[in-house]
Amino acid sequence: NFGLVRPSFLIDNSTILSGAAEALLSCIAVAYRIRLILRERDDARSAETEARTLADRDPLTGLMNRRAFLREAIGQTDPRTLVLLDVDHFKRVNETLGHDGGDEVLRRIARTLCATAPAGALVARLGGEEFAVLTDDAIDLPDTILCAIRATRMPFDIPVTVSVGVESGAIVTEEDWSRLYRAADQALFAAKDAGRDRARCAA
Ligand code: GH3
Ligand code: MG
Ligand code: MG
Repeated sequence: NFGLVRPSFLIDNSTILSGAAEALLSCIAVAYRIRLILRERDDARSAETEARTLADRDPLTGLMNRRAFLREAIGQTDPRTLVLLDVDHFKRVNETLGHDGGDEVLRRIARTLCATAPAGALVARLGGEEFAVLTDDAIDLPDTILCAIRATRMPFDIPVTVSVGVESGAIVTEEDWSRLYRAADQALFAAKDAGRDRARCAA
């Protein structure tokens, strides 16, 4: 500076200091941007997880829906027992309690099924008033379910029962599933024919 300005640490090192300040600011800006990107990524991931959960769940009962149930069930080589349930005279339940009351009955049945099913069992609402439990440990399960549903406290204490059809086998392919489902469904119809509120095994 041609001796015009007195020597000073700040002026002598101004280039280094301004470079350091710029580097520090750049680091803060980059770190802030990375933080924003990570947050956006986490939000997108949790939105995707939530969407997948919603797509797999029956919105009324919170159970697995048919799609998720089939995805989990098909491909199991070990024999499984399919316990298929249909609420008895559910139309009458709706007529007595109204549609919202009927919905509440379905929710309570779902809760009872979850509490009754063995650990590791798949429990699903296949549609309407039809439910399924798939398990490798089905000893006494149909009777246990029938008793548990009878004992479930329903709105206005109305009696609600289910009929049950049971069939066992491996579910390696979709054809296996169709065969198992058809057999359990026929057994379920036999239970309805025999007077409802009971279980039947496939012939
Ligand atoms: P069954 O003992 O022979 O099974 O007689 P059901 O009356 O239970 O059988 P049906 O198939 O005649 O009637 C089923 C009724 O279930 C008809 C339909 O309105 C009702 N339903 C199906 N899905 C729902 C639902 O999500 N909520 C309510 N509240 N009712 C439903
Ligand atoms: Mg039905
Ligand atoms: Mg029914």
